[in-house]
Amino acid sequence: MQTERELQLTEDQWRERLTPEQYEVLRRHGTERPFTGKYVDVKDDGTYTCAGCGAQLFSSDTKFESGTGWPSFYEPAAAESVELREDRSLGMVRTEVLCKRCGGHLGHVFDDGPGPTGMRYCINSCALELEPERNS
Ligand code: FE
Repeated sequence: MQTERELQLTEDQWRERLTPEQYEVLRRHGTERPFTGKYVDVKDDGTYTCAGCGAQLFSSDTKFESGTGWPSFYEPAAAESVELREDRSLGMVRTEVLCKRCGGHLGHVFDDGPGPTGMRYCINSCALELEPERNS
C-alpha cells in the first residue's frame, strides 16, 4: 500500500525532475558510493533540503565528520520532516530515513552518533541540496 504524500509524482515525472543518480537513490532506494558525494566534506552554513521536493531536512549546525564517506547529521531539522522505517534488505536490519513530504529515500540512521542525540543520520549527498545561509 502506498502512503499518501504531500508531493506525489508519477515515475515519469520523477525521472524528468531528477538526475539519474538522484532517481536511483531517492526513488529506488539506492546508495551513492562513499566519498563521492558533493557534501561529504562541506562545512558551509545553511539548510540541507530534499533534492526531490525541497523540504527542509537538516541544518548544517548538526552536521559532523563521521568518516563514513557520507554526509552525517545528529538530528533532522524537524522531527516531522523525516520518516523512519525498518529496512531488512541486504541481510541487515537498518532504519531507513525517508523525506516525509515526497517519500524519497535519503539514507539510514544509526545509534552510534555523537552528542547530544547519539544518532547518526547517514544521508546520500545527491538526495540533498544545500541552501546557503543568507548574510543579512
Ligand atoms: Fe522530499
